[in-house]
Amino acid sequence: MILDKNAIQETHYDVLNVKEDSSYEEIRASYRSAIVNLHPDKLLKTSEASINDQAAGERFIKVQKAWEILSNSSSRLAYDNELRGSRQDILAADVAEDIRIEDMTAEDAGEAFELLYQCRCGDYFSIDSLELEKMGYSLLRDGTGISLQTGYALPGSVILPCGSCSLKARLVIDTNA
Ligand SMILES: [Zn+2]
Repeated sequence: MILDKNAIQETHYDVLNVKEDSSYEEIRASYRSAIVNLHPDKLLKTSEASINDQAAGERFIKVQKAWEILSNSSSRLAYDNELRGSRQDILAADVAEDIRIEDMTAEDAGEAFELLYQCRCGDYFSIDSLELEKMGYSLLRDGTGISLQTGYALPGSVILPCGSCSLKARLVIDTNA
């Protein structure tokens, strides 16, 4: 599979130079300093103003667009899902098998628990319950069994890397189960 150019395009987070889990305040601070640096008055003071102008203009548009998306919680959530989807498509290239939550075993990991599924190399594919919660899936653990609390969650899938080898498993979450 050849990586699509879009897949490695800079994200809105890259444009604003913030982490993907940055808070609204952090993103706003970063946006403000970016805008100050790109301000036309400031650029005119440089000797190569005309050359820089165009690049700065394009940059300015990118920064504005990134801010527009990331400053609004619902558009940010939609964008995050889109990002995750495009990354999953790339990862899906070497998925060894599809698994379901019921196929996995749970192991305590402090306040959360870790879901494990053995890879053919002997190590495990794993994901913790907090990660799943971030994606909108909450799990119930009773005894040795795990079940998904359906509710408002949408069906989806997540790629789990093996701890040792390059194989991956796709955890398919079927909320209609
Ligand atoms: Zn493995």
